Amino acid sequence: MSSVEIDLHKKLKQYFGFDQFKGLQEGVVQSIVNNHNTFVIMPTGGGKSLCYQLPALVQDGVAIVVSPLIALMKNQVDALRGLSSVEGIAHVLNSSLTKNEVKTVMQDIREGTTKLLYVAPESLTKEEYIDFLRSVKISFVAIDEAHCISEWGHDFRPEYRNLRTIIRRLGDDIPIIALTATATPKVQEDILKNLGITDANTFKASFNRPNLFYEVRPKTKNVDADIIRFVKQNPGKSGIIYCLSRKRVEELAQTLQVNGISAVPYHAGLDAKTRARHQDMFLMEDVDVVVATIAFGMGIDKPDVRFVIHHDIPKSIESYYQETGRAGRDGGEGHCLAFYAYKDIEKLEKFMAGKPVAEQEIGHALLQEMVAYAETSMSRRKFILHYFGEEFDEVNGEGADMDDNIRNPKKKHEAKDDVAK
Ligand code: ADP
Ligand code: MG
Repeated sequence: MSSVEIDLHKKLKQYFGFDQFKGLQEGVVQSIVNNHNTFVIMPTGGGKSLCYQLPALVQDGVAIVVSPLIALMKNQVDALRGLSSVEGIAHVLNSSLTKNEVKTVMQDIREGTTKLLYVAPESLTKEEYIDFLRSVKISFVAIDEAHCISEWGHDFRPEYRNLRTIIRRLGDDIPIIALTATATPKVQEDILKNLGITDANTFKASFNRPNLFYEVRPKTKNVDADIIRFVKQNPGKSGIIYCLSRKRVEELAQTLQVNGISAVPYHAGLDAKTRARHQDMFLMEDVDVVVATIAFGMGIDKPDVRFVIHHDIPKSIESYYQETGRAGRDGGEGHCLAFYAYKDIEKLEKFMAGKPVAEQEIGHALLQEMVAYAETSMSRRKFILHYFGEEFDEVNGEGADMDDNIRNPKKKHEAKDDVAK
């Protein structure tokens, strides 16, 4: 063990209270403290934040962390301040700060108190900030949620496109760390190309979730009854049911309630108070089921969600993986059941009709993958992992039999015919 490693373990314990690195973290941290461009691909919950937070805390200068959401930045800054008990250890720099607050931030950075500065990409375009940052020592720039760079990702943000130019202006040879939970090779390529990085140390964790059971059933007009039956067969278990539209969310939540299932709706059309209340009810287990649009789930960390049902098929494998990924976080059972009808795909295609052509083409390609997944008669796990550029041994791999096609092999066109009737 090198002296650097020993030191890092000590710092890990000192700052975060952890005895061990998780997964690939140690290699990542080493790569960053050695000033390499570094690319980190780990599923949600994998522990990506620590990968740049720890190096930032032990290195000279300030690390700039680019993150897309103010709420995420605030959470992280609060957590870091709590860990170190130094108020100025981390700051957010954005347009909502007063002149005086900006002054404090700059002073803390100049004095070397601040080790992490969180910024939204649009803040980094401000000349005043760029001039200031050029005058201080920057340890590295970390780009969290780096898939926002790519149109092939699920959350493309045009502001992310200018990051390379801006980082170049901040100084020469500043190491760049890109982090994402998006595992598709296409998005990864896009990220590196856009950032102009050819020499990154890449760390990619496995995206296999061996405890999740994947199942697709044909969606008929009896889908509500099918869902009710499933939930009743799993009494007292926590589950999420995703629907495409707010209207469907409301209707299904009601249908479940009428049938004696404790369920609440959740979607962006509800006022903030109701949303918060319903979310808390689910987290506190006052209700078993939340029926939701994709507005539900970001940052929800309920470890014992036992099933995720898709009343409507999502728009990409990637979304499907993220949404089903909320099941079985504790490593216990997690049943992922999707109801599929081809006419839902057509509906999703129609939604895209008004969009720019390039966007439509991407959307269409992503949907076709979703169709292929729903209709495959092979290992679903292998399909998902292949989509993420990962080899999976469908005979001996972890969780190989956790899938309807493997348990009960049948020809998938049967399912399709059912729907067509
Ligand atoms: P990601 O950004 O990859 O989704 P986070 O950085 O939010 O993941 O971390 C997920 C969880 O893992 C957090 O609760 C964090 O405290 C925990 N965690 C991170 N590193 C470790 C570690 N070395 N040991 C134990 N828990 C860890
Ligand atoms: Mg994260």
